[in-house]
Amino acid sequence: MSAPFLPFTRPTIDDETIAGVAEVLRSGWITSGPQVKAFEAKLSEYVGGRPVRVFNSGTCTMEIALRIAGIGPGREVITTPLSWVATSNVVLDVGAKPVFVDIDPLTRNLDLDRVEAAITPATRAIIPVDLSGLPVDRDRLYAIAQRHKLRVIEDAAQSFGSSWKGRRIGAIGDFVSFSFHANKNLTTIEGGCLVMNDEREAKLAEQYRLQGVVRTGYDGMEVELVGGKYNLTDVAARVGLGQLPHLETFTTKRRELARLYFELLGTPSVRALGLRLPVADFTHSNWHMFQVVLPEERLTIKRADVMAKLHAAGIGTGVHYPAIHLFALYRRLGWKDGDFPNAEYAGRNILTLPLFPSLTPADVERVVDALVTVLTAHLKP
Ligand SMILES: *Cc1c(COP(=O)(O)O)cnc(C)c1O
Repeated sequence: MSAPFLPFTRPTIDDETIAGVAEVLRSGWITSGPQVKAFEAKLSEYVGGRPVRVFNSGTCTMEIALRIAGIGPGREVITTPLSWVATSNVVLDVGAKPVFVDIDPLTRNLDLDRVEAAITPATRAIIPVDLSGLPVDRDRLYAIAQRHKLRVIEDAAQSFGSSWKGRRIGAIGDFVSFSFHANKNLTTIEGGCLVMNDEREAKLAEQYRLQGVVRTGYDGMEVELVGGKYNLTDVAARVGLGQLPHLETFTTKRRELARLYFELLGTPSVRALGLRLPVADFTHSNWHMFQVVLPEERLTIKRADVMAKLHAAGIGTGVHYPAIHLFALYRRLGWKDGDFPNAEYAGRNILTLPLFPSLTPADVERVVDALVTVLTAHLKP
């Protein structure tokens, strides 16, 4: 019998959480209510008491942060071309212009050395992304932001549970946006939260979250701005509350498995294949993903073929992500091949290998064996 199919990720939801969800469903109140309040309180505690509001995605959180910061038409926002397309779509959504800066091929994050050259009089913010959970250097990032009086909207969708120099991501900085999508380290199925600086911002976030409505007393209702429909349900919030106590264990498990990947992929014979490994960070990263970059110039097959062959061997992989500026929408706005060579190379060759808390060391060995077999069989002479 062959081994079961290994997905590249899989959520861990315990029985207590499932029972808790059933309780919420029976309670008579299933949309935003007491579970949302409790989840927000726990998240705020997690980020050292900063104001936190939850939403139904980690996309609207960034859009709302842009709106709170007053960023719209005529303004520019600097970001990375190697991310989930939400990162720059939100900039277009508010009518502003994304300005891409190439990545550092080692960290695969925004190359901070290139940010200042991209700043113009229209620049108002930077949206850095902690790809795979590896934090962008917060000291350098905020030094640049302060020097040029820019807002920062951290797209920390992938870095819940990561830290920077001993402090949790979310506990420091300007706006911090987390996603609780099913694939993220902590999930509410779909959802997200925004960490803000003060109660004024939090009040605005609540307005943008639900049709701009402000309620007072028993019957008072006022609307002063155009809000959306972005509230999280109590059912989802209960899932998040059940996940939070496991966050540290999840991160520890992921780190241990990442270490094993490095061990197995670090032998001289495997290194000789030319595979590019991620930064071996065991202090800051939550190891949201373990991503390798295939050595395109040395292989006779493309990434899609590697993925197909791994799939045939019962192993799921993912692509996070193709370079954003080469999507049709962005090409129409003027970007083209060659604009950001590092992001383009990664976009063509990056491959996410299975990594999740319930993965076993034997699974990791199986993945590495299969990958090495496929690559070895398709090396250029
Ligand atoms: C997941 C993700 C988002 C969006 O989160 P959703 O909750 O799916 O809206 C944004 N940016 C990055 C980098 C992500 O990984």
